Order: sequence, then C-alpha cells, then structure tokens
Amino acid sequence: MFRLDGKVALITGSTRGLGRAMAEAMIAQGAHVVINGRSDDAVLAVAAELDLDGRSASGVAFDVADLSAGDAAIDTIVGRHGAIDILVNNAGINRRAAVEDFGDDEWRDVLAVNLDAPFALSRSAGRHMTAAGRGRIINTASIMGTVARPTIPAYVTSKAGLVGMTKALAVEMAPHGLTVNAIGPGYVATEMNTALVQDPEFNSMVVDSTPVGRWGTPQEIAAAAVFLASDEASYVNGQTLLVDGGMTTAL
Ligand code: NAD
Repeated sequence: MFRLDGKVALITGSTRGLGRAMAEAMIAQGAHVVINGRSDDAVLAVAAELDLDGRSASGVAFDVADLSAGDAAIDTIVGRHGAIDILVNNAGINRRAAVEDFGDDEWRDVLAVNLDAPFALSRSAGRHMTAAGRGRIINTASIMGTVARPTIPAYVTSKAGLVGMTKALAVEMAPHGLTVNAIGPGYVATEMNTALVQDPEFNSMVVDSTPVGRWGTPQEIAAAAVFLASDEASYVNGQTLLVDGGMTTAL
C-alpha cells in the first residue's frame, strides 16, 4: 500500500524542512519528485542528493510568489516528464508583529506565498491533471488554519484561507479525477521554527500543551503526505488532516 511508482510530484519549498522530508518519503515510495526553492544552487544540490538512482529527483527553481514563473514551471515539468500527478503546495513563510505594527508589505508577502501561489499552481497543474483524468493536490496548511495565536495575523489568515481553498477545489475538481486535501501540521522542529525551539518558554508551551508531549518530526508530516498522495486515499477529499500530536484536541 501507499506506493507512488511512476508518479511525478512537484513539492514547492522542498530544499529543507517539511518539504524535503516529503520529497524523501515520496521517493522512497517510488515517485519522481521535482524539488523546488528559490535558489538554483540549493534546488540542484538537494535534487542531486536525493537522486540516488538517476531517476528519482530533479529540480526546478522558482519563486512561488511569481505566478507566471509557476505556470512556466508546471509546463516545463509536464514537458520533461509527460505528466504532473501530485502537487504539494508546501512553501510557506511567516512574519511576526503585533496587529497595530503589522506592515502592508509583510501582509502581502505572506498572502502571496501562502495563498496566492497555491491557488495559481493548483489552477495550472489542475489543467494538466484534469486532461489526464487524475491527480492529487495537497496543501500544507497548519493548525493555525483552525486555531490562532497572537502576532501572526497574516499567517493565520493565509492558512485558514488555504483550508477553505482546499474545500473549494475539492468539490470542483473531484469529478475530473482529482482529490484536493490539506495537512495541518502542529509544531514541528524545522528551520522555520528555530527561534521557537530555542526559546525555553515557548518550548515548554508546546511540550506541555501537546498530549503526546513533544514537537513533531518532519517524517510524521511526510507520512501524511504520502498517504494523501496514494491511491489508497482515493475517497479522502476536501479534508484537512491535522497532524499535531492532539494539540488542537486538548483544552
Ligand atoms: P522552512 O522555512 O524550513 O522551509 C520552507 C521552504 O520553502 C524552504 O525550502 C524555502 O526555501 C521555501 N520557500 C519559502 N518561500 C519560498 C518561495 N517564495 N518560493 C519558493 N520556495 C520558497 O519551513 P517548514 O517548517 O518546512 O514549513 C513548510 C510548510 O509547512 C510551510 O507552509 C509552513 O507554513 C508549514 N507549517 C510548518 C510548521 C512547522 O512547525 N514547521 C507547522 C505548521 C505548518
């Protein structure tokens, strides 16, 4: 079960963190994964590291906030590999400031990367998937799409929007053979969270308020992505799977 042999997957923001773990897990299940990030050097280095057999990984560098570059990248992937079977909208950024100090540019940057880009890439990849009669779109949302914390208003808004977009695309695209789902990770120790992991007070908050009593690992998020990408998840559609150690279930 959960094999992805012969499938071509684009995972945005996969040079490190959750995206990279998803790439490793999908390759282990037989997929060809196209690595993405903004820097050519980083993308090519990670693709080379993961491409142990010469056919498991390749790279396409582009900034997901540049929507026309995203469209071109999807066409390049389909041109090279003949299909795009799996799109994981994973690249995401966060900016922290109190609401009264939150800048317009910060607001737009977060919405552009976390919400505009997933829509545009889904639209673009969705055209090819619809023509092929099959496809999987997986959005990396967050528990912050369901609950909220202070000082990250753009992030919370973007992730709640992504949860809504997941449902909107799921109902429209399923008749064409696609499923669209999201993963809502809880707190996972990645580069994005380095400052939080090192802050003793925040670290205690995570450990104490998570029923399993620890931060998550990138591999635990990647396992959910493999499941949602697999044929076995064919009747799961429009869902946001919260992988958070029970944090949002506890009061
Ligand atoms: P990370 O910062 O470690 O990695 C993010 C990746 O996205 C990097 O490869 C980066 O180069 C890439 N990226 C950022 N902006 C980009 C852009 N404009 N174009 C292309 N690539 C870009 O982050 P992470 O912790 O691995 O998070 C991945 C996703 O998971 C994000 O959407 C994040 O919001 C979400 N998430 C993370 C956590 C967590 O605890 N780490 C929790 C909930 C949700």
